[in-house]
Amino acid sequence: KANRKFHPDDSVINVGGALIGGGNFAVMAGPCSVETPEQVLATAKACKEAGATILRGGAFKPRTSPYSFQGMGPEGLELLELAKKETGLPIVSEVMDISQLQYFDNVDMLQIGARNMQNFTLLKEVGKLNKPVLLKRGLSATYEEWLMAAEYIMSEGNEQVVLCERGIRTFETKTRNTLDVTAIPMMHELSHLPIIMDPSHAAGMSRMVRPLSLASVGGGADGLMIEVHNDPSKALCDGPQALRPDQFTSLMKEIIALRQAL
Ligand code: PEP
Ligand code: MN
Repeated sequence: KANRKFHPDDSVINVGGALIGGGNFAVMAGPCSVETPEQVLATAKACKEAGATILRGGAFKPRTSPYSFQGMGPEGLELLELAKKETGLPIVSEVMDISQLQYFDNVDMLQIGARNMQNFTLLKEVGKLNKPVLLKRGLSATYEEWLMAAEYIMSEGNEQVVLCERGIRTFETKTRNTLDVTAIPMMHELSHLPIIMDPSHAAGMSRMVRPLSLASVGGGADGLMIEVHNDPSKALCDGPQALRPDQFTSLMKEIIALRQAL
């Protein structure tokens, strides 16, 4: 179902009014994790003003260490919904397990994280819902494995899938991951599904977000996912890669200008 051969036209996915694919560009921005009402509201307002089309924020966090902040859980989703009400932005958040799905009724798009790309029971379950799914590429997944994960969702009936390249594990250690820009033209060739890029998790460094975002736009991506925090130095998760609102605002201007020039 994800194969371009049987579906020549680009799929356009509607996330609470924000369109992705077929020439529609989406920018998902917001904090890695929802932390406090002040943090999420201030960040959400700044993202909206800068031109983001979807608000991101994690409530269930897949952290490498069990001793790290694990997210606010259901309460975090409530704060994200509050930010949606305040800004009008649709929201995307990660679901790590089937048992958490009960809290996601008011979330516009379900994010499947890199670590869960091959959690086949979870993929089948979100495949039964009528809700867009953001499917991140696994840490060392091939294009074929990634598309098969999309197939797991689509085979259950839910064809509203957006792919997200977030960097893969390579021999390089200077960066957290390596952004695979080739995934854009390759996925467009193999599939009709939109593909967005996540430069924040790819490099793990805020100063790399601008060049990687512009490379992604130039490479034909259908959107971006960018982590923004009102005060990155105090972030409980992924602070080093988060943009401040002023940095995000100037990057958005460059993104819009570059898209117009294409
Ligand atoms: C995230 O988006 O905050 C996240 C945990 O992403 P990934 O699954 O790509 O590591
Ligand atoms: Mn993060």
